[in-house]
Amino acid sequence: MGLSFDRYVILLRAAGEVRMEDFEQARREMVELLRGTYGISDNRVLEVMAKVPRHLFIPELLRGADAYGDHPCPIGFGQTVSQPYIVAFMTQALAVRSGEKVLEIGTGSGYQAAVLAALGARVLSIERIPELAEHARSVLGEQAIVRCGDGTEGWPGEAPFDVIIGTCAPDDVPPALPVQLAEGGRMMLPVGRVIQKLVFFRKEHGGIIRTDSLPVRFVPMVPGAV
Ligand code: SAH
Repeated sequence: MGLSFDRYVILLRAAGEVRMEDFEQARREMVELLRGTYGISDNRVLEVMAKVPRHLFIPELLRGADAYGDHPCPIGFGQTVSQPYIVAFMTQALAVRSGEKVLEIGTGSGYQAAVLAALGARVLSIERIPELAEHARSVLGEQAIVRCGDGTEGWPGEAPFDVIIGTCAPDDVPPALPVQLAEGGRMMLPVGRVIQKLVFFRKEHGGIIRTDSLPVRFVPMVPGAV
């Protein structure tokens, strides 16, 4: 019988075998994969992903060097942090510039928020599950403002946003979100229940231009209070 990944990490940790250098090495390999295999070409995105310590956002039990593996990672409460490629793809597509105001729906681990903050964005993020919001706040510190609540309504008091990113999938685009986008603003979120697509939106002259992108599999955006 094979060793489960969790068990493997526990054994490695017990043996003192997961060290800081391993995380740095794993991060370099992750970025090489993003650049070489997945064709992520925005150097700013690659640079911040080479720096943000993804492992710190993942619960301790799962914090092996594999926090940087080419797959989503469980973060508890049945939720996951996206595969590095999806984080890079969405971040690159949204072309976030320093000083822009960004709304994230689905803080989860806080990793995507940290990547956006490292690009110089002012990040506000909404998470439905209180424990996850609390954990993300503790890891993110000043890097982002995390609110616990239902992101389907957006954050009207802080609108408009230059960028909105959804990391959980609604069945259909929540009507409040495009309204809260600034002129020239960009939004990307997975849409659909069984078959999901990442959808990119741009607000121009008050209208919304929609472009379908990659097929994906995100956790659902659950409307309403917890
Ligand atoms: N961006 C996250 C991904 C987390 S997974 C990261 O980097 O780790 C998506 C998250 O969306 C989950 O934590 C889930 O609890 C949250 N979520 C689901 N429905 C939501 C809603 N209506 N409002 C806010 N967050 C929601």
